[in-house]
Amino acid sequence: MGVTRYARAMQHATRRLHSAELLAIGTELTVGETVDTNSGDLARLLVALGVHVTRVANLPDDLEVVVDAMRTALTRADLVITTGGLGPTPDDLTREAVSSVCGEAVAVHPGTLAWLEGLWARRHQPFPAVNIKQAWIIPSATVLPNHNGTAPGWWVDRPDGRVIVTLPGPPREMRPMWTEAVVPKLHGRGVGAELDVRTLRLTGIGESQVAEVLGDAILRRSNPVVATYARRDAVDVRISARASDSESAAELADAAEVELLGHLAPYVWARGTTTWDAALGEALDVRGWTLATVEHSTGGALVALLGHLPALQHAEVLAERPAAGDAALLAEAERARSDAGTSVGLAVTTRPAGSDTDVEVAIVTPDGSRVEHRLAFLRGRQGADRAAIAGAAVLLDVLRGL
Ligand code: ATP
Repeated sequence: MGVTRYARAMQHATRRLHSAELLAIGTELTVGETVDTNSGDLARLLVALGVHVTRVANLPDDLEVVVDAMRTALTRADLVITTGGLGPTPDDLTREAVSSVCGEAVAVHPGTLAWLEGLWARRHQPFPAVNIKQAWIIPSATVLPNHNGTAPGWWVDRPDGRVIVTLPGPPREMRPMWTEAVVPKLHGRGVGAELDVRTLRLTGIGESQVAEVLGDAILRRSNPVVATYARRDAVDVRISARASDSESAAELADAAEVELLGHLAPYVWARGTTTWDAALGEALDVRGWTLATVEHSTGGALVALLGHLPALQHAEVLAERPAAGDAALLAEAERARSDAGTSVGLAVTTRPAGSDTDVEVAIVTPDGSRVEHRLAFLRGRQGADRAAIAGAAVLLDVLRGL
C-alpha cells in the first residue's frame, strides 16, 4: 500500500462522523408540491445518534445545483445524506451528481442488475432499459439494498473519511433502508458523541423573559446547547450536552442544569415530556387525593388540559362567572368538592383585563384553602388556555406544599 493510500485508510478509519448535512432532492420539493418530511425524520434520528445536523436543504432536479451543494456540504460536514432522485428517469440525477463530485465513472453493478431484472421477470415483464441506471455504482460506493422499491441507495466513503449516503425519496423506502442498512454502518464507523439531553418545563414566565434571564452567553454556547421553546403548555428549556475530551455528557449537562436552576428554579414545574395531567396525577396520588373542578368562562380549557387525569372525578364548565371576590370563588371550589365527594376542589374563573385575561384560582383541600390571582397573556382562546395552565400550576404548588 502506498503512503498516500495508507494515510487515507487511516483517516478513514479514525474520522468519527460528528456532523451531517441533509440534501433533499426533487423539484417537487422546491415548487412546494411535496413537503420534505424526510429531512425532519432523518434529523431527529441523527440527533438521537449524537450527530450534529448543521444544515438542511431542498434542491431542484438540477445537476449543477446538486453537485455544487454536495461539494460544498462535503467541505463542512462529516456526513452528507441525500434523499430522492434515485428513480430511473433522466431527472433522477443523484447518482450522476455523486459520480461527478467524486470524480468517478459509473458502471453497472452486476448483482444489482440481476436483482432488478429478477423483479421484472417475477411479473413476466421485459426489463426496461431506463432502469439500468438504478444498477449503477461507482468504485468508492457500496450498494444499500431497497426491499421496498427499485431504487437502491449508496454508501460512499470519501478519501478523507467523510461519507455520502444516498437514500430514495419515498419515506416508506427511505426509512427501512436507513434502519436496516445505514444505522449499522454508522455504528461500525463510530458515530456522533455521547449525548445527554434534558428539558426543564417552565410556567409563569414567557419565552422572551427566559431568554433575558439566561442571556446570550448561555443561549449561544455551543456545548451544552441551551435552547428555549414556547410550547402550548410550557416554556421548555432544553440542555443538550455532548461529551468532550475531558468531561462526560452527563457532567456537562449537570453543570449546565445547576447553572440554569440558579436563574429559573421557581418556574420549573416538570422535566422531560411530563404533561400537566401527569404531574398533577403524581402529586395527587402521593396524597391519595381526588379532584373536582369548576371553571367559568374558559370554554372548557381546564377540562381539556386535565381531562385524562384519573384522579379527576368531576368537572364542570360554566358560562357564568360567580360574583366577584375571593369568597365567592372559594365557595364554588368547596361546592364542587362536596357535590362530587372528592378531596380537592379547584375553581378557575376568567375576566377580560384589557388585551389580557385576569385569572382567579381557588383551591380547597383537606389541609386548607388558597386563592390566587394571575394575569394571562392575551384574551379569548389563548387567554383561556393560559388561565387553565395557571389553575393547574397553582394546584401543583399547593400539592407540593409550596
Ligand atoms: P423512486 O424511484 O423509488 O421513486 P426516488 O429516489 O427517485 O425513488 P423521488 O422520485 O425523488 O424518489 O421521489 C418519489 C416520491 O417520494 C415523491 O413523489 C414523494 O412522494 C416522495 N418524496 C421524495 N422526496 C421526499 C421528501 N424529501 N420528503 C417526503 N417525501 C418525499
